[in-house]
Amino acid sequence: MAATPEKPAAATPRRKVSRHRGEGQWAVGHFTPLNANEQAKKDDDGLNVRTRIETIYSKAGFDSIDPADLRGRMRWWGLYTQRKPGIDGGKTAILEPEELDDKYFMLRVRIDGGRLTTEQLRVIGQISHEFGRDTADITDRQNIQLHWIRIEDVPEIWRRLEDVGLSTTEACGDTPRVILGSPVAGVAENEIIDGTPAIDEINARFIGTKEFSNLPRKFKTAISGSPLLDVAHEINDIAFVGVEHPEHGPGFDLWVGGGLSTNPKIGQRLGAWVPLDEVPDVWAGVIGIFRDYGYRRLRTRARLKFLLADWGTEKFRQILQDEYLKRALVDGPAPERPVEEWRDHVGVHRQKDGRHYVGFAPRVGRVDGPTLKKIADLAEEHGSGRVRTTVEQKMIVLDVADDQVDSLVAGLESLDLRVKPSPFRRGTMACTGIEFCKLAIVETKARGASLIDELEHRIPDFDQPITINVNGCPNACARIQVADIGLKGQLMLDGDGNQVEGYQVHLGGALGLEPAFGRKVRGLKVTAAELPDYVERVLTRFSKERETDERFAT
Ligand code: SF4
Repeated sequence: MAATPEKPAAATPRRKVSRHRGEGQWAVGHFTPLNANEQAKKDDDGLNVRTRIETIYSKAGFDSIDPADLRGRMRWWGLYTQRKPGIDGGKTAILEPEELDDKYFMLRVRIDGGRLTTEQLRVIGQISHEFGRDTADITDRQNIQLHWIRIEDVPEIWRRLEDVGLSTTEACGDTPRVILGSPVAGVAENEIIDGTPAIDEINARFIGTKEFSNLPRKFKTAISGSPLLDVAHEINDIAFVGVEHPEHGPGFDLWVGGGLSTNPKIGQRLGAWVPLDEVPDVWAGVIGIFRDYGYRRLRTRARLKFLLADWGTEKFRQILQDEYLKRALVDGPAPERPVEEWRDHVGVHRQKDGRHYVGFAPRVGRVDGPTLKKIADLAEEHGSGRVRTTVEQKMIVLDVADDQVDSLVAGLESLDLRVKPSPFRRGTMACTGIEFCKLAIVETKARGASLIDELEHRIPDFDQPITINVNGCPNACARIQVADIGLKGQLMLDGDGNQVEGYQVHLGGALGLEPAFGRKVRGLKVTAAELPDYVERVLTRFSKERETDERFAT
């Protein structure tokens, strides 16, 4: 296995060695790995594992995989081992990783900007059917995840994905992950600016290259010119948010340092306006700061938000300008408050060309291979063959003529893909949970789906926007901290003293221009069995006591 050089070639510029070496920052001369993850990345770049998968592991089978690749570098190509079935949540923290590993993988297909053609969707559906036991989840980062993937099938799956322009490159790992984009970029009537060219250029120039394939931690990007602020820009490491500059016209407001999980932080504005054609260079500057100055000592303190917290926005912008861009950025305005409460594009909406886009809601993002192929058929019959995924685990068919809308809606609804969903179907998200995730403590997808059904049955008249996010562990894959009702999975004792699955409740989180983290209600935990009763009580009380225009989060 080839070792990377002592000084990673991509890390520029270099500064004088400082006394302050404790955080493992390359830019202050600290290249000695301070933990096992950093050592593994130094031993061999994550991108290099592809050759071993193609030439060795897929031929010799699961047991031939080097453990450092299995639980590390394979993520650079979107592959995680999935949880062995039947291991309960109480064992998550006490078993060794190899005891939790199944011999199958989760495979994350990267869908930058959520943009898919029907041909691509059909290929994913077929791969799910042939190789993934028909599993498919639309994620809250616009990806599609498949499960039950065998290492032997990975090269063929890559061949089929890449033949239609899809990839799993850097879908996981300490890399620039999928670039979120407005799912209605280029078509929405109210769009400020279309960020698609910037997403494409960043992809072409930087994704899958060694320049940014060894970061301190993951790096999340969002680019949207929609006034609905439809990509959860507040919780990304970098976000470009569409704004109209009074002198220069449409461009993007630059945000950095957002992220949930440990020490959740809302991203901060640098006060800079970036024109469309400069977005890729500014993106490269910010991710360059992260690569060079990011903290590599502790993974729990590695995300960009920790560096930003220590530097502050003024110093961050100064270093970006002085050391990376070599020029000053233009000052610019903040985004305006969105006019609509929902940002998910569900329902029927007019496009700027007079046609329509039709957004629809599966239950908690779960679909399957045959359903993906049927969605592709419907999108082709009724539109131009363009489909989108959203950051709320939803999908959209674009380019639907007036006289095709009713038929498309009927076709989607017949697949249980709701175009006019209840607030519960629309606003509930769930992470992967104990079914497949090795970190999970409790079940999430099935419980989220049954919660939707229960609430639709119990409080059919509830008509307020509401978000209910269900996580299987203390991580933040389903964004519990910014939901109206966030449910963090944990084990607890029920009334009879039995250990059962349950959730710690966070109330009142929000995204938008008044983002907030939900408050942990002191000691409030509910067992899985009590969950529908609890949520029903909370929502019924809110409905009765709310004042006009009062939102759940306020
Ligand atoms: Fe797994 Fe936890 Fe993320 Fe859910 S929140 S997918 S259980 S790591």
